[in-house]
Amino acid sequence: MNTKPHVVIAGGGWSGLAAAVELAQHDYKVTLLESAKQLGGRARRVLFNDMRVDNGLHIGVGAYTELLHLLDVVGVDVDKVFHRIPFQMRYTSTKKNHMVIPPSSLPKPFNLLWSFIKASGFSVREKIQALRFCAKLALGKLDLQSDISVQAMLIKNGQSTRLIHYFWEPICIGALNLAIHKASAEVFVTVMHDSFLQTRDYSDFIIPIADLGDIFPDPAMEYIENNGGSVRMGSRVTGLELDGEFVKGVYVGNELIKADEVILALPHIISRRLLTRHEIFNSVSEQLAYMGQQPITTIYLKYPDSVTTGTAMLGMHDTLGQWVFDRSLNGQPGVMAVVISADGPHMKMDNEKLIAHIADELKQLFPQWPEHEEAIVIKEKRATFYCGVASNEVRPDVETPVENCWLAGDYTATGYPATLEGAVRSGVACARHIISNQMKEELTENE
Ligand SMILES: Cc1cc2nc3c(=O)[nH]c(=O)nc-3n(C[C@H](O)[C@H](O)[C@H](O)COP(=O)(O)OP(=O)(O)OC[C@H]3O[C@@H](n4cnc5c(N)ncnc54)[C@H](O)[C@@H]3O)c2cc1C
Repeated sequence: MNTKPHVVIAGGGWSGLAAAVELAQHDYKVTLLESAKQLGGRARRVLFNDMRVDNGLHIGVGAYTELLHLLDVVGVDVDKVFHRIPFQMRYTSTKKNHMVIPPSSLPKPFNLLWSFIKASGFSVREKIQALRFCAKLALGKLDLQSDISVQAMLIKNGQSTRLIHYFWEPICIGALNLAIHKASAEVFVTVMHDSFLQTRDYSDFIIPIADLGDIFPDPAMEYIENNGGSVRMGSRVTGLELDGEFVKGVYVGNELIKADEVILALPHIISRRLLTRHEIFNSVSEQLAYMGQQPITTIYLKYPDSVTTGTAMLGMHDTLGQWVFDRSLNGQPGVMAVVISADGPHMKMDNEKLIAHIADELKQLFPQWPEHEEAIVIKEKRATFYCGVASNEVRPDVETPVENCWLAGDYTATGYPATLEGAVRSGVACARHIISNQMKEELTENE
C-alpha cells in the first residue's frame, strides 16, 4: 500500500509539471489541477489555422540542466525536440549594422575568445572591451555590491554606447525581457556566468523543433498518469483550506480536494490572490505585491514555402522586431516568427498595424521575399515577472510560513529570470523538500 503523502499541485505549467514528475518518480500520489483545458501555461502549443505553433518562441541554453534531465526522466529524446547549436549570433539591420559572432568549437573559455576575435561588425576596440568585461565576469571582478541596472553596470565596466546598444542590449532583453536601463545586473550576471563560465556546451542554444506541448507537457502528463497520479484540466483552484498552521486541501469551486502537501505552481498574481485571504501568509503576499510583469509579443507570418532567412535564429537591428525565427526546422517552411520582448510602442498598436509594420521591416531586410499570405499576433501581456533592479529581493522562496504549503514558479527565488529552467527548478525544489521531509520523519519514527 502507498503510504506516501498525497500532494496536490495547483497549476499545470512547467513548474507544476516538474514538481509532479519528480514526486511521481518517487512514488508519491499526485493530483495536478489545471484551470485551462490544456497544460503548459505560458509555454504551450497554439493552433494557427491547420498549424501547431507556440504561444511564443522559447529558446533555451545548454545550462538548462534540470529541464534536460526531466525530459530524460519522462522519456523524451532531447535530440528529437531541440536543435542544438554552439553559441553564435547573427544580426541583420535596416541601417547596415550587420554583425556576426561565429560559433567556435574550442574548449571554454577559448571558444568565446575565438568567437569574438572572428566576429564581424565590431571594431577591434569594441572586441577588446567585450573581452575585458568577460574576463572580469570570469574573475568575479565586476564589483556588484548592490544591484544596479545592466546598462549602469556595463558603462561602469567600460563598454561603449555602440557595444551596449548592438551587442549587450539584445542579449539582455532576450534573457531578462526588460529594457537594459531597467533590468537587474545581478540576474544578468547569473545568466552570463552559468551560460558561459561552466562547461562549454552550457552556452549552446537549444531551439525547439517540436511544438512546446510535445516537448514536455504531454509526455509529463503521460508519465504522471502512468505512475499513479492524476491530472485534472478545467479545474480552477479557488481557495485553500487551512487548519491553524497546516493546509488541509484546496477548493475547486465547492469541492474540497484533501491534501497532505500543497504546491501552488501558479502565476504570482494568482498565488497572491489565494494567499492574501490567510493572515499567516502576510509576509509572502506583501512580497508578491511588489512583483510586476512584462509582455512578449510574437508575430507569425506565413510566406510561400521557399522563403527562408537561411538560419534558424536571426537578430534584427534598428527595427521594432528583435528576432526572426525561421520555422522550417519545425517542419513549417515559409513560416517566420518575429519576437518583440518587453514593453514598447508595439503594445499600443492594433494587430493589423503591427503585422503591416513587421512585414514592412522584413521586406526591407529581405527585399526579394514575396508578400506574406497570412499572419497572427500573440501578445502575452503577463509573459514574465518584472526582472528589474532589486527584483531578487522580493522573490519568495519555495517554502512558506505554512510548512506543508509550497510555492513553485519562475518568479520564485531561483536567481534566474523567468525561464523554463527557472520554472522547472522551482518545481523540482518543492518536490525535493517534500521528499526529504518525509524521509526525515520516517527516520525519526524508526529511531
Ligand atoms: C511569449 C513567451 C516567450 C517566452 N520565451 C522564453 C524563452 O525563450 N526561454 C525561456 O526559458 N522562457 C521563456 N518564457 C518564460 C517561460 O514560458 C515561463 O518562465 C514558464 O513557462 C513559467 O512556468 P510556470 O509554471 O512558472 O508558470 P505558468 O506557465 O504561468 O503556469 C501556471 C499554470 O497555472 C494555471 N492556473 C492559473 N490559475 C489557476 C488556478 N486558479 N487553478 C489552477 N490552475 C491555474 C495556468 O493556466 C498555468 O497553466 C517565455 C514566456 C512567454 C509567455
